[in-house]
Amino acid sequence: MTRASAILFDLDGTLVDLEVDIEQVRAELRAVFEPLGYGGGFRPILPGIDEAARTVAHTPEVRREWVARGRAVIDRAEAAARVTARPGACDIVWALARSGVPIGLFTDNGRCAVERALTVLQVKFQAVASRDDVMCPKPDPEGVSRVAGQLLAAGGVLWVIGDSVRDIRAAVAAQSELANVDIRPIGVIGGRSSKTDLTDAGAHAVIDRVEDCLSLPAFARR
Ligand SMILES: [Mg+2]
Repeated sequence: MTRASAILFDLDGTLVDLEVDIEQVRAELRAVFEPLGYGGGFRPILPGIDEAARTVAHTPEVRREWVARGRAVIDRAEAAARVTARPGACDIVWALARSGVPIGLFTDNGRCAVERALTVLQVKFQAVASRDDVMCPKPDPEGVSRVAGQLLAAGGVLWVIGDSVRDIRAAVAAQSELANVDIRPIGVIGGRSSKTDLTDAGAHAVIDRVEDCLSLPAFARR
């Protein structure tokens, strides 16, 4: 019997381009935290906010407040950013939806950015893990594990498609948490990472465009 398959996409750089002015976000974060004595560079952003909050606050409650203030800076930037579908992205998600393949999203963007992207892609994903839904950002495997349980409750094969090394590492790390799901990480060239970087991180294959995932063995016959 053929095992069930599902497909999990990263969002920014894979299905859409979200034009966030990341240097402006870093400048605003520095303006918030530098007067309090934190001098880090916010690279990457989300771990940088956590580090800044740990530096300026000494109780968990106050730390959470500072994390929320930091994340509000990104939320505002994502709400203002232009969102466009990447070439072929609508075709692929619509084709998968028509064929009945469960699809999901895992992203370090927030819920607001996800909602804006969904209005562009015009498709329903069966499961979504945004940064607001997990404790730790990628490459932590939490987002992949959470969505895998929703898409493939009875087990199967989960193809994880993303443009960054952190996507691939999250997928690889999730395998050790999922006994009944085989994870197949696939890199896509979207601007974040090179083919060599994605392969070295553990990608089973690297495709040039997201729509090329239809040629993957599990989907070619559909
Ligand atoms: Mg990405």
